[in-house]
Amino acid sequence: MPATSMEQLVALCKRRGFIFGSSSIYGGLQGFYDYGPMGVELKNQLKNTWWKDMVYARDDIEGIDTNLITNRVVLQHSGHEDTFTDPMIDCRACKARIRADFIENAKCIACGSEDLTEPRPFNLMFRTQVGPVVDDEALAYLRPETAQGIFTNFKNVMDSTVPKLPFGIAQMGKAFRNEITPRNFIFRVREFEQMEVEFFVKPGEDDKWHDYWVQQRHDWWLKQGLSKDNLVLEAQDKDELAHYSKATVDICYRFPHGLEELEGVANRTDYDLGSHTKNQDEFGITAKVLPNTDSTAKLAVQDIDTKKWFVPYVIEPSAGVDRGVLAVLAEAYTEETLENGETRTVLKLKPHLSPIKVAVIPLAKNKPELVALAKEITQILRGSIAGRVVLENSGNIGKNYRRHDEIGTPVCITVDFDTIAAADSKPEFKDTVTVRDRDTLKQDRVAIDELPNYLREKYFIY
Ligand code: ATP
Repeated sequence: MPATSMEQLVALCKRRGFIFGSSSIYGGLQGFYDYGPMGVELKNQLKNTWWKDMVYARDDIEGIDTNLITNRVVLQHSGHEDTFTDPMIDCRACKARIRADFIENAKCIACGSEDLTEPRPFNLMFRTQVGPVVDDEALAYLRPETAQGIFTNFKNVMDSTVPKLPFGIAQMGKAFRNEITPRNFIFRVREFEQMEVEFFVKPGEDDKWHDYWVQQRHDWWLKQGLSKDNLVLEAQDKDELAHYSKATVDICYRFPHGLEELEGVANRTDYDLGSHTKNQDEFGITAKVLPNTDSTAKLAVQDIDTKKWFVPYVIEPSAGVDRGVLAVLAEAYTEETLENGETRTVLKLKPHLSPIKVAVIPLAKNKPELVALAKEITQILRGSIAGRVVLENSGNIGKNYRRHDEIGTPVCITVDFDTIAAADSKPEFKDTVTVRDRDTLKQDRVAIDELPNYLREKYFIY
């Protein structure tokens, strides 16, 4: 059964080195988290899987990596400077600043006071300055989404590759939002990562591609181990839509704190390219945009048949990496009662996401022969599989199993006395090891030579 409370996950993440509060030795900073040794592996593997599936496995998507600090003029024309706001209410009693939609019964959620201000818009973008002089000219923003870097490079990518519509540009990376009420662990934070594709299509074909991407992305999350029952598609109501969207479907996950958005799939129409293109009047853009006399690039394509230029529509599947990590952890978290009555905590992660793929454990640390063979097996596996293989040499096998269960290592290999037994005493065990399955706890005896094949075939560990 998946995690039932966020506390279980927070405790496991700290105990096993997945996620720590940022600058926690100084009391922390609200809305910021750091990833530890296991967390960085899990997060990187989720991102790598996404990149592999979105870019390498397709002929119609190219990758890109753009800056975090963003020219102000980009975010003026994208509409973010004016409209990327949340209505916010201040409590006059305790000074808490709270998102208006979090307030129920006209009471402060921090202190219960009813002495509240009217809702006021609050821009969520972090400001910074470029260069030594602090003035309006130097103002820039940390990007609130990775998408704008894709739109402003649309022409560069078109000119340097050979794309034909429909085609997409993918980007993963940090985004920053000065959330008024960060909460629920890494669900709502102020610095997070996104994995976004902007998929450019002909106007008129946008609804079809929107449906396609909702399905694709839903199925992708299933492959990361999330269960069908915990994934719910929710079409946003018209009044909830972001300023650029014609329609958005949220892929929601049943997190420990409730059913909430994991990824949004938006039909951004021609809003963004239309906002950033020069000569807007040429194209009959449907979206309402700031008149743009700043841009020097025509962000349009020519219809092959009619030779007319048009601004493509864009479908955007936009996923949060941190929310993905949280969902995968929540789904994998399992507490089970063993036959001896003990409780075992185990992360039943898909092997491709596990931080460590294989742990090699000599049964005793003071037997040089066992340790030497364990080292040799570790080296063989490091040379044959791409994921991380570790040698555990503490001599406490029970402790090792508990740790690897909790970090989700799919396979533990034990080198025991039978492995090194003389050929005539136990010939059937010579050069074999015990392979313990994390989920079933079943143990197989496998020849050392066969290990790479065994891991590939049974666990898809490459
Ligand atoms: P929400 O309604 O929860 O604030 P949103 O609709 O503003 O999210 P989008 O702008 O669609 O989010 O961003 C795309 C994705 O980025 C979201 O689906 C989510 O996974 C992630 N994301 C957005 N804001 C945050 C945040 N503050 N912390 C962590 N992830 C976030």
